[in-house]
Amino acid sequence: MQDHFDVAVIGGGIAGLSAAANIARGASVVVLEGESQPGYHSSGRSAAILAQGYGSGAMQVLTGLSEPFFNAPPAGFAEAPLLTPRGLMRVAREDQLQALKAVAAQMEGRAALAWLTGEEAEARAPLLRPGHIARAFYNPDAADIDVHGLMQGFLRMAKSAGAEFFGKAEVVSMAPAAQGWRIETAQGVVTAGVVVNAAGAWADKVATLAGVRPLGLQPMRRTAITVAAPGDVDVQAMPMIVDADEEFYVKPEAGKLMASPGDETPAEPQDAQPEELDVAICVDRVSQACRIEVRRIESKWAGLRSFFPDRLPACGFDPEAKGFFWLAGQGGAGVQTAPAMGRLAAALVLGTPVEEVLADSGLAPGYIAPGRPALAA
Ligand SMILES: Cc1cc2nc3c(=O)[nH]c(=O)nc-3n(C[C@H](O)[C@H](O)[C@H](O)COP(=O)(O)OP(=O)(O)OC[C@H]3O[C@@H](n4cnc5c(N)ncnc54)[C@H](O)[C@@H]3O)c2cc1C
Repeated sequence: MQDHFDVAVIGGGIAGLSAAANIARGASVVVLEGESQPGYHSSGRSAAILAQGYGSGAMQVLTGLSEPFFNAPPAGFAEAPLLTPRGLMRVAREDQLQALKAVAAQMEGRAALAWLTGEEAEARAPLLRPGHIARAFYNPDAADIDVHGLMQGFLRMAKSAGAEFFGKAEVVSMAPAAQGWRIETAQGVVTAGVVVNAAGAWADKVATLAGVRPLGLQPMRRTAITVAAPGDVDVQAMPMIVDADEEFYVKPEAGKLMASPGDETPAEPQDAQPEELDVAICVDRVSQACRIEVRRIESKWAGLRSFFPDRLPACGFDPEAKGFFWLAGQGGAGVQTAPAMGRLAAALVLGTPVEEVLADSGLAPGYIAPGRPALAA
């Protein structure tokens, strides 16, 4: 290990890798990841969808700013397209019509929505149980993301700009030092002028290690399963189906169906595992709305989606700890926002114009700064 870098990025998930790839254009960078491989935690466990208009307003803006990158990444970034058209249908029973309208209003101007009757929804998604859905809207632009390709692309981009990646390099202690920070890892000690805290669910823990005030990040467990699809359904042609209250979703995955009960259970940062009860709830909800007879759970997993109290991410320097940069709290949209978040983080770290990243987006960087009032002590 070289011993001094301009910037040490802690965490090799999508947040850390996208930031490292952009920061490395203007500074020496090391990525320190506790696991042996990048993306072992949340980033490798997502539903891999780019859904315009999903999440808080800031995440919607960052998704919009990321879309051009997904559609046209730099030459050599990925071997295959990063996006595959999927489409996404939000569906409502009679008793959920208000909820559906509220979701549509929240997405206003961010996605092209087509309203459907129950019958039209069933025609577009024959997996739906006849008569179960009263209304729906369809977003034709939602797309599957090749998350592995995205992470590998950012890792390659970072390395080709000179960044180093160390796996099995859990950061165990940190202290301010003459050149910035002294960082002790499972692989040895490095120093860095700036630390980027991209530790996902562990971001508050990493702050505490550094003697920096934690900001109130809450990891929430979300469960997913895969099951076989009914034989008469063309799985590949199916849109993702999401309940108006996000009480379940189902989408094609490699010829099978991936489903989730949309759970948000507060959890400690950890290698999240699915609970039997959540799996059972998932099966129950999905089979009420869809023509699925679940005989066997083919696979199941859980991952953590981490939120600050106001559900906005934190991207910026800590107001009290010099050289400590936060990049956390992306909740359920960290993959689809990563291209823009990585660029924004790099501009803030390198001191280059932030406006170029956020041009005409209406998002002021202070809005997601860690020093905002909602995250004050
Ligand atoms: C079931 C599920 C479905 C989702 N679906 C979507 C979706 O469809 N679209 C979307 O955009 N988002 C989705 N998300 C959210 C998305 O996965 C997250 O927002 C994103 O992965 C967060 O990325 P991250 O890099 O911050 O976290 P992580 O991927 O968890 O990376 C953080 C890394 O930091 C490392 N680390 C922690 N502490 C230390 C330490 N002390 N030293 C060194 N390394 C450390 C960890 O090992 C980890 O690899 C979903 C999440 C879940 C769980």
